[in-house]
Amino acid sequence: MSSLGKLRVAVIGAGAAGLCAARHLLSRPDTFAPPVVYELTKYIGGTWVYEEKVGSYDNGLPIHSSMYRDLRTNIPKEVMSFPDFPFAKHLPSFVHHTEVRKYLEQYCDHFRLWDHIQFGTSVASVSPVDVKGGWNGLAWNVTTDNGVDHSKSTTERFDAVMVCNGVNRSKLTTKYLCAWQQNTFENCLDLQIPVATCYQLNSQSKGMLMHSHDYRSAEPLAGKSVVLLGAGLSGLDICMELSNVDAKVILSHGQRPLTCPLPPGVQQAPPVTSVLDDGTLEFKNGERAQPEVFLFCTGYNFTFPFLDKKVGVNVQEHLVWPLYKFLIPPAYPSLFIVGICRAICPFPHFHVQTKFILSVLDGSFRLPSREDMEKDVELDIAARRARGIATRHILKLDSEQWAYNDELARLGGFKPLPRYWSNLYESNKVFRARDMLNYKTHNYTVLDNMEWKVHDLHGQE
Ligand code: FAD
Repeated sequence: MSSLGKLRVAVIGAGAAGLCAARHLLSRPDTFAPPVVYELTKYIGGTWVYEEKVGSYDNGLPIHSSMYRDLRTNIPKEVMSFPDFPFAKHLPSFVHHTEVRKYLEQYCDHFRLWDHIQFGTSVASVSPVDVKGGWNGLAWNVTTDNGVDHSKSTTERFDAVMVCNGVNRSKLTTKYLCAWQQNTFENCLDLQIPVATCYQLNSQSKGMLMHSHDYRSAEPLAGKSVVLLGAGLSGLDICMELSNVDAKVILSHGQRPLTCPLPPGVQQAPPVTSVLDDGTLEFKNGERAQPEVFLFCTGYNFTFPFLDKKVGVNVQEHLVWPLYKFLIPPAYPSLFIVGICRAICPFPHFHVQTKFILSVLDGSFRLPSREDMEKDVELDIAARRARGIATRHILKLDSEQWAYNDELARLGGFKPLPRYWSNLYESNKVFRARDMLNYKTHNYTVLDNMEWKVHDLHGQE
């Protein structure tokens, strides 16, 4: 606690989630001392800081962002923004990634966040300490260094910690790959070789293996045969980019076959079930392919290497648990892991989670007992499993995100998102599923709390 009796909160990461945390902590000087935001890189924005290079920064640290050169957002700016800070009016609904970075910089300007961010500072450890007084008899020692040679190590004491470190960027696929993939690719994936050289599939094969984290642009894959694994948003987007450079793409995925028009040169296949010694891929239906490139768009994983084991936060496949409301380890309720849910509308989700966290810390929402929170987590996970949801999909909230957001707003006693938010977001999802090739030509205008209209780039409804 600060000398003025205010709560000191450390924020790990200056991506969208960390900035949102800082913005709201700063808005409550009655209760909170100015936050300290630790950011490993020299920039704010995390994901939205495009790096042309792959592999490592000049200082040897692994590149964080998976942004690719031509990415335009897949969520319209009208609902992608933080609810208290809209994107500039003149922009189209689906903006280029550079506009999102600018937007986050404007957010920092507007809410005067810059002075509270310590750049080039890596959080190396976060450990709970029992203290008399403090929040719930608990405090946190946060040790930071420069992240490179681990010099300039210092430790500071905080009442609470908000972990906003995004998804893991290094060796990112190894943990997520299923058994056959690990056996085959373990060695290549540990290499961290830039995309220019790509990963060698195995000693006999000419094929190349890469993960979408290292994808920057389609040109290096022009005209090549590609098996692209995973039909999530990045997978589909990259599929379209590859089609534009005449790559022959087999889109391999485990969902129901897509019924919308696909880009030219793209065909679908069921999941890859095995890789033969010569690098041939075998699909679930028995068909085979020997692509020049095997591209993983299988997502990312979470890691919290700095977190004391004692805290007991586990990462299993894509699930981070036990976390009450996907945020709070029941045994250490002044630690908050923000932004682990997937298939969500991220910025407003961070906004709601942050406001809820503040309501916990300022006492306006009283958390249940540790035992009750543990029971709640257990029951919630069991209920999802009973609905047939695999472990790796438990954090995918999808349309349930709106009920989740509303629940946090109700518990925390703050204003929920305006009604149009969910319904515009969900409509965009429907447009995208129907017409992945053209949905970004839509533009949206919000009329009031409930209503919005959609038109094309020329204003035609
Ligand atoms: P990040 O942006 O990853 O930021 C985490 C920050 O923490 C980084 O700056 C990192 O350097 C820092 N950090 C990590 N470890 C440490 C440490 N130990 N010490 C100090 N600092 C640390 N969302 C949308 O809303 N619309 C889209 O169109 C969209 N497209 C996307 C496309 C791609 C390719 C990807 C990968 C994501 C996309 N997203 C999109 C989701 C996007 O990730 C979120 O919008 C959001 O930017 C995530 O923010 P974050 O703060 O949680 O994490």
